[in-house]
Amino acid sequence: MTYNSTRCYLIIASAIIVLLHTFFTVSLWWLILPSVIYLACLIYGSSVIQANFFAPAYCSADTTDKIIALSFDDGPDSQYTPQVLALLANYEATATFFVIGKHIHGNESLLKQMITEGHSIGNHTYSHSFFIDFKNVQGFKDELNQTSDLVFNVIGKRVKLFRPPYGVTTPNLAKAAKLLDYRIIGWNIRSLDTTKDSAEVITQRVQSQIKSGAIILLHDTSAKTLQVLEQTLIFAQQQDYKIVSVERLLKMEAYE
Ligand SMILES: [Zn+2]
Repeated sequence: MTYNSTRCYLIIASAIIVLLHTFFTVSLWWLILPSVIYLACLIYGSSVIQANFFAPAYCSADTTDKIIALSFDDGPDSQYTPQVLALLANYEATATFFVIGKHIHGNESLLKQMITEGHSIGNHTYSHSFFIDFKNVQGFKDELNQTSDLVFNVIGKRVKLFRPPYGVTTPNLAKAAKLLDYRIIGWNIRSLDTTKDSAEVITQRVQSQIKSGAIILLHDTSAKTLQVLEQTLIFAQQQDYKIVSVERLLKMEAYE
């Protein structure tokens, strides 16, 4: 089910109710029912990136190979990103970092280190504002272009992978991403490492869901995530999973 098909169902259902009202005196109050269902679909579709409701999103790879991808959102962070990079190097794993544009200034060397060490970089908008989903198409394009320019100035490459803030998609976000030729990247294992849950609970949540082709969402912004990451790297190694960046898992290009 997509945004367009849901709109069609709403129009068809509403037309049927109007016809029934005209010929069989069915109450127009019944119009509330498809409207409520439509609204529920919009809320579900915008908040669940795996639903592919407003835009197609890559959330896992269809493979039986023992390979998974790690992704880190919301950095670069001068305190935690270096520690994440050190852990990844220790366990010979690579990952994709979806960076926030406004966090890049002063952390340029971390972006260079990511590229040198075989990781990849994606776009996570410039502001990551709490109200970002109220932006129009041009607003989203500006957010993406600002971060793309900042990353380009450091690594000399144009990013093509985009992770929507909070995993929320909207029609305007989808249109901006399409116009700028971004590939929207979701996940199928949400660690919830920014919640109050303990590192043990988060680690257990991640490990219990690991399977071939998975994309794991973490944030390089807390000490807790470092614990979760190390335990997950150990677990993956014990289980013979290879850990790679998102574009390697999905066999696509991360840059223009
Ligand atoms: Zn984020």
